[in-house]
Amino acid sequence: MGLVVQKFGGTSVGSVEKIHHVANRVIQEKERGNDVIVVVSAMGKTTDELVRLAGEMTSRPEKREMDMLLTTGEQMSISLLSMALQNRGYKSTSLTGWQAGIRTEAVFSNARITDVKTERVKGLLNEGRVLVVAGFQGMDENGEITTLGRGGSDTTAVALAAALRADRCDIYTDVDGVYTTDPRYVKGARKLTAVSYDEMLEMANLGAGVLHPRAVEFAKNHQITLTVRSSMEEVEGTIIEEDAPMEGNLVVRGVAFDQGIVRMTVVGLQDELIGMSSVFTVLADNHIDVDIIIQSKTDTGKVNLSFSIKEAALHEALEVLEQHREQIGFDQIEHESGLAKVSIVGSGMVSNPGVAAKMFSVLASNGIQMKMVSTSEIKVSALVDMEKMQDAAQILHDSFSLSELAAGQA
Ligand code: ADP
Ligand code: ASP
Ligand code: MG
Repeated sequence: MGLVVQKFGGTSVGSVEKIHHVANRVIQEKERGNDVIVVVSAMGKTTDELVRLAGEMTSRPEKREMDMLLTTGEQMSISLLSMALQNRGYKSTSLTGWQAGIRTEAVFSNARITDVKTERVKGLLNEGRVLVVAGFQGMDENGEITTLGRGGSDTTAVALAAALRADRCDIYTDVDGVYTTDPRYVKGARKLTAVSYDEMLEMANLGAGVLHPRAVEFAKNHQITLTVRSSMEEVEGTIIEEDAPMEGNLVVRGVAFDQGIVRMTVVGLQDELIGMSSVFTVLADNHIDVDIIIQSKTDTGKVNLSFSIKEAALHEALEVLEQHREQIGFDQIEHESGLAKVSIVGSGMVSNPGVAAKMFSVLASNGIQMKMVSTSEIKVSALVDMEKMQDAAQILHDSFSLSELAAGQA
């Protein structure tokens, strides 16, 4: 007998019928003789609706209140699923994140899990109960309720799987696996049999919303094999593990894209070193993630520093940089909104230096202007205008022949 952690996302628990269907899948696993922990998200678009409601109160809600509000979504799903299981004669207990022992750092809206206290969960499992745990939430050392960032229920599932040394962690969702790119937007997207942790981490960080990046990070650090699979159909999913074999001779494994990116430029840094380190320290202290960074010297000898951040962080970034104007020492801040990032990912790139060149020339020859670019050993990214994002993704997917493996070879 083993321990299985199953996670069902918002669409998978989007209605009463779907919750009953999830109960069936849980029972199936239980009947195989396994202990089961089920992590669920809020029903359907509940979280978006709660965000919208908050916006009706104020344009800048405090993050603490947002977390208080958003965590109610998951609390609905756990109780309903637990009732559905009990109705079928199974012993089950619903647990909020904090009841399930999920401890986080003291940060609202995007907290990292620091620890999982497993005593209570272990005790309940020993009683033969199915545990239904609310994803996306935890509690910090001050007893405050925190959330893990949008899509964070995946991370709750993997963290529990790691802490309890589960035999399997299955992420059930509305697609039947990880594809070469988002099948909702790109024609010819192909399901992958296996993806390595590193590639999946890049894809997730670069916008492939199918998995929360921190879930992949946890899985890699604790060597938990993840399976992404359909909550609706009984088909094989995609395995995420340490070494996923390369398919055919494809150097690029996937294309990811992300919208809502802003390019900020701090113009006229008086002192290059002090200025640069202060800018990034101030942003990091305020938990604002910076992505692509470019620095350039102006004719007057001053330095301009450009970097990209998420649109959602723009207000805060402008505010905190202004607050530290004197310490940083700059003339002004400019920003350009309405950008998107399109990236190609694949561990085979390390040994194929021509990949970035090919990506840039393909985009350029299709009239897609690149505003900023960045490369690493396993990815190349370019910022493009938002309106060009989908075209760029399609062009790259086609140019790197990602649809083309014969069936059965994937
Ligand atoms: P859940 O509510 O189950 O967590 P999500 O909406 O967070 O589901 O994630 C599933 C969605 O991720 C899919 O519907 C798909 O549109 C999107 N997606 C983005 N990139 C990929 C990819 N490479 N492979 C599969 N799905 C992807
Ligand atoms: N309900 C949260 C969200 O919509 C968490 C999740 O779905 O994983 O982002
Ligand atoms: Mg998700």
